[in-house]
Amino acid sequence: MDPVIIVHGGAWDIPPDLLEPSVLGVERAAREGFKLLQEGYSALDAVERAVAIMEDNPTFDAGVGSVLNLEGYVELDAIIVDGASLRFGSVAAVRRIKNPISLARAIMEEMEEMMFVSEGAERVALELGFELIDPEELIVEREREAWKRRISSVRGTVGAVALDTNGRIAAATSTGGVPLKRPGRVGDTPLIGCGAYANELGGASSTGQGEPIMRVMLSKLAVDFLARGLHPTEAAQRSLSFMADRTGGWGGVIVLDNRGKVGYAHTSKRMAVAYSIDGDVVAKISSLE
Ligand code: ASP
Repeated sequence: MDPVIIVHGGAWDIPPDLLEPSVLGVERAAREGFKLLQEGYSALDAVERAVAIMEDNPTFDAGVGSVLNLEGYVELDAIIVDGASLRFGSVAAVRRIKNPISLARAIMEEMEEMMFVSEGAERVALELGFELIDPEELIVEREREAWKRRISSVRGTVGAVALDTNGRIAAATSTGGVPLKRPGRVGDTPLIGCGAYANELGGASSTGQGEPIMRVMLSKLAVDFLARGLHPTEAAQRSLSFMADRTGGWGGVIVLDNRGKVGYAHTSKRMAVAYSIDGDVVAKISSLE
């Protein structure tokens, strides 16, 4: 089976100065993830790598460069899902983890439990051999300034969905959440079926307004549309229309099916996406304008 990966760098009103870094960021993540798939690594390896690359890129609202909460520090949420086993691992409101997506994966693979939050998650991280970082390492000057000026515009959550040569599908999503959130606020990202979902039919990763996404379980909704025989693009569009109709919320979702077809849609002004087609990586800013 030919491997495929699709990644996103968040659905939001990406400003002109972040257009190029966003395209380059998703392009690199898709390329590196795709390379792993071509070398025979699993879909889980590919989505973890693609998301970790974007967590390390301060352009995005995930890992280093994330938005600050009301009290001026970063709290991170992440999830990884294995479509073949229906297992997942997730973490919420962690402050001292450099790559939450890797901790989520280790939880999925090494723990009985699937989700840990806050200091409990950080204790589990130590048990699993992760290093805890100084929370200051996640903060960049741009975000400190935005926090000082109380600027509260949403930024770019990251996510990936991949199909490997064995036909297995995995999905992953990571975020710093929304700016100026109350400490302890958890969005859709680390919740199964909301921020990401995968099964044997396909996988999805969502971004946008967390509370509406939770209310409709956007990623599960998109994958369920695949069961009705819809193309991933249509599944993405329909799930977002349902969310808009029922909650008034906006967002974006990437979808991949078990035949390797990819699709995406967004109701935000823009979304950075990249995907592999026949060995080439296509990266772009999708815009509603
Ligand atoms: N959905 C994320 C949250 O609400 C934010 C985003 O995707 O931009 O935490």
